[in-house]
Amino acid sequence: MPGKISISFPHMGDYSAVFTQVLRHMFPQARVFPAPPMTQRTVELGGRHSPDFVCSPFKFNLGNYIEALEEGANVLFQTGLGCRYGYYGELQEQILRDLGYQFRFVCLSRDRANPQYVYQTFRELGCPLSTPKMIEAGLLALASIRVMDRYDYFMRENAGFETVPGSFEGVRRQLLREIEAADGFGDLLEAGTRSRRAAAGIRLDRPENPLRVGIVGDLYTLMEPFSNFYVERQLAKDGIAVSRKMSVWFLMFGQNHRRAVKKSGRYLHHTVGANGVDSVAQSLSYARQGYDGIIHMKSFGCIPELNATPALLNLSRHWGIPILDLSFDSHTSETGVQTRLEAFSDMIRMKKEEEDAAKREPGRGRGFGVHQGRRAGQQR
Ligand code: SF4
Repeated sequence: MPGKISISFPHMGDYSAVFTQVLRHMFPQARVFPAPPMTQRTVELGGRHSPDFVCSPFKFNLGNYIEALEEGANVLFQTGLGCRYGYYGELQEQILRDLGYQFRFVCLSRDRANPQYVYQTFRELGCPLSTPKMIEAGLLALASIRVMDRYDYFMRENAGFETVPGSFEGVRRQLLREIEAADGFGDLLEAGTRSRRAAAGIRLDRPENPLRVGIVGDLYTLMEPFSNFYVERQLAKDGIAVSRKMSVWFLMFGQNHRRAVKKSGRYLHHTVGANGVDSVAQSLSYARQGYDGIIHMKSFGCIPELNATPALLNLSRHWGIPILDLSFDSHTSETGVQTRLEAFSDMIRMKKEEEDAAKREPGRGRGFGVHQGRRAGQQR
């Protein structure tokens, strides 16, 4: 490609730190930068130029691309498998060209998401690394994802109980900076160890039996907090321990649809597209572990998650576990989501208090809200 290349890519949570790291290694001569931070303008731009009924990842990504092009990007990356996300790249490229932008679109979706195609494309773009060095850069990126996901998992469980607000987020920001700047496994190891030590040193005021909520749903809405109005952060502010299994590491190494169907028990007998079956399997696992509630988050019009919804309703009824269903689109009102979330938190808190009181005084009437006294497998 003639001239200096400026590479950019859309956001999905803070994985941009890892993408920046690996692309910086692969293309040392290039300018590498994630799309500008997501704002309302990103949403409006994406929404304005997208088909009406497409799901929100398409719109958010398109907004990211437009803003990256405005910032001077001339190479855009896209990747994705699963459902229709794997077909979005071609349409997004066409829309951007119709808008008059000139760029190279590197779409690593579906059958192109394989090492050989990636290798050829990187060579065409001018990657000067030897093959072993390319592999090393790829492995470093994978290890970085692992470090990041492990920290995030720990943080979600504990951030609601930190005595100094923002402590976990501060450590996380530092970890992301170090991941982005890491030039080798030594750097990454140090960054991981530093963040673990720092997190272990954060003072917590965690009750013995805190409220616990599991989060399931479509991968983009779960992993891009801007798209869900930072639901996890709000739950933490409410003093709730949050569990979310969905992560890039899970998608790459933990996902197994056949196993997930088995783990869905009697609630699903087939896969339902993308991560729908994971939502059911993980919800059943949360119910069995006695979680206080589940939040099912999805993009408006997400067919796989819509397919999973009846199974989740049955599961909620049988196990007496409240499930809050939240759909997000570029038109979703943040206030509406906040109100529902607050009501949900209040409801599960009151339900837990009733249950705890019933345990202390066995004669006392049990049951609040949806479950009417049934619990954990006490099925009809
Ligand atoms: S999983 Fe759902 S939200 Fe994600 S691309 Fe597919 S249909 Fe859209």
